Amino acid sequence: MPYKVTINKDTCDGDGECVEICPVDVWEMGDDGKAEPVNADECIGCESCVEVCPTDSITIEEI
Ligand code: SF4
Repeated sequence: MPYKVTINKDTCDGDGECVEICPVDVWEMGDDGKAEPVNADECIGCESCVEVCPTDSITIEEI
């Protein structure tokens, strides 16, 4: 099941919780200091990143 992984860069504060918790390494910190879903194709839709994000900046949708 593919998922669309979206981050709101306006609200991401770059604390990296999503990078730490994602079991399939979807996230990396970008040069802008914000999280970037560089491996979105690997997302399994667990929503762990959504739960830990302190600013509710991540959205996971089935596609
Ligand atoms: S939903 Fe799960 S697998 Fe997908 S990016 Fe978030 S933590 Fe990673």
